[in-house]
Amino acid sequence: MNFDGLTIAGDISVDEQDLASRSRDASIFSVRPQAVVYPKDSSDIEKLVKWVGEQKSTHPKLSVTARAAGTDMTGGPLSESIILDTTKYLNHIIEVGGDYAITQPGVYYRDFEKTVAEKGLLFPSYPASKEICAMGGIVNNNSGGEKTLSYGQTERYVRGMRMILSDGNEYEFKSLNTQELESKKSQENFEGQVYRELYDLINRHYDIITKAKPDVSKNSAGYYLWNVWDKSAGTFDMTKLFVGAQGTLGIMAQATIGLVKPKKYSKLLIMFLKNLAPLGELVNKVLKYKPETFECYDDQTLKIAIEFLPQIAQQPKDDMPKLVLIVEFTSDDEADASSRLEAAKADVQKFKMVQTHTVHDVAEGERYWTIRRESFNMLRHHAGVKHTAPFIDDVIVHPLQLPQFLPKLNELISQYKGLTYTVAGHAGDANFHVIPLMDFHDEANRKAIPELSEKVYDLVASMHGSITAEHNDGLIRTPYLPKMYSPEIIELFKKTKEIFDPQNIFNPGKKVPSTGSVSALDYALSHVIKE
Ligand SMILES: Cc1cc2nc3c(=O)[nH]c(=O)nc-3n(C[C@H](O)[C@H](O)[C@H](O)COP(=O)(O)OP(=O)(O)OC[C@H]3O[C@@H](n4cnc5c(N)ncnc54)[C@H](O)[C@@H]3O)c2cc1C
Repeated sequence: MNFDGLTIAGDISVDEQDLASRSRDASIFSVRPQAVVYPKDSSDIEKLVKWVGEQKSTHPKLSVTARAAGTDMTGGPLSESIILDTTKYLNHIIEVGGDYAITQPGVYYRDFEKTVAEKGLLFPSYPASKEICAMGGIVNNNSGGEKTLSYGQTERYVRGMRMILSDGNEYEFKSLNTQELESKKSQENFEGQVYRELYDLINRHYDIITKAKPDVSKNSAGYYLWNVWDKSAGTFDMTKLFVGAQGTLGIMAQATIGLVKPKKYSKLLIMFLKNLAPLGELVNKVLKYKPETFECYDDQTLKIAIEFLPQIAQQPKDDMPKLVLIVEFTSDDEADASSRLEAAKADVQKFKMVQTHTVHDVAEGERYWTIRRESFNMLRHHAGVKHTAPFIDDVIVHPLQLPQFLPKLNELISQYKGLTYTVAGHAGDANFHVIPLMDFHDEANRKAIPELSEKVYDLVASMHGSITAEHNDGLIRTPYLPKMYSPEIIELFKKTKEIFDPQNIFNPGKKVPSTGSVSALDYALSHVIKE
């Protein structure tokens, strides 16, 4: 690839190993880029974006796809053009304040966590991949995790963003009041144009946009147009649109992240379910006691953990529960946390197929957490000739729908005889990570991907759920967005992309399908890993 006319302080690589490693994330896809660019600072990103914009008339397929740690499960950071990798240089925490931190996108969460913990603070929407992912991915995927049940998703914590837009300039975004919005709209530059056009789009379609918001506690699907303009508060906040947009509207150079003080006391209740029938009722019962976290993993996950995690090995292999539920009660008042745990425990005694166990020892508690957090990673590394195949990996419905949803989901998957899969996730949010294991040489397995996606997403849509709570759309789910959103909303997503990125410079094919002869689904399926 020829970068004539582009000079940056960082590095440009066409090294074989760099290209190969950036061809993969944690999804089922492999897409080989043409180059990897490592920006030294945000002015390098500006130069690259301007340069790509200038080349577009002669090289229309040239584009820029931002990448943090590459643990995305959707193909979000994959591209056939230029990958912009931020972990090499843009990996600094700029400032930690009383309740916030300003971070660059390439900071690994594990480093961010340590730094803010020194000030007694926590970013509570960290994902289970917290040891391997980075802040750019967390923000741009709107990630969630075990504490999202009580603290909400990443979108709640992003207070400001510095973004490089498609004109190749960096701008600062934050919540604006009416006066500030009017002042932005009157600007004679690209930022002013974007504010005018987006305001107009939301204003004209306010009612259908508001109605399109899925009825779930977490959502990563589509552009969250309904979150931008809060009429009652009189605020207009463009960061609400960038969060979770997978780098399709601009590149994040910096973000200001709100932080919380963790609660002092934590009490853990474990529940073992012999069968899944009472799960829906059980979840809704326990939610009344306001747990901070309410997670789960199934018997398949437990079997793999017993085999591959040395610290778990002493658990008995027989008499395996079908599902293990971890319920955490926290408070600054120890007696309050304990009494809610005891009340929840007493309330679930009536379920004959449920056994409960209170954890009194920190090391024991850690064993349950390790299995839950490592469930997908363990599988990725120990699947043998098979691959983990995240494609129906992140469905969510309203918890009250669980009693109807789970049997139907199970019925759909069980039509595929011989398909092994694990289930883990966020029981309290009714958000389940279903991960099949597949041999991609087997044509039947490859065929099952679109077939099962179609059926499962129809089911989710019929219950007004979301096809992705936190993992996002990427290559795997962009083709299915019309299952969740009306044609009018899909058209508004397209217009939103055009407002920010008229030349399609940023991460093409994600959120809004690329136009061309190949459909988004065919494109995705043609890039499923072959080896
Ligand atoms: C074992 C495992 C467990 C997981 N558990 C969870 C979980 O519990 N919850 C959850 O939500 N996710 C989970 N994930 C998915 C993934 O780890 C998260 O989405 C994570 O936040 C992605 O971070 P990353 O740094 O790897 O981002 P990447 O994969 O590098 O990128 C993610 C997306 O963000 C975009 N992006 C990255 N940087 C920028 C930038 N500077 N500007 C604009 N766009 C950018 C990319 O283009 C891409 O679309 C898990 C993944 C694995 C492998």
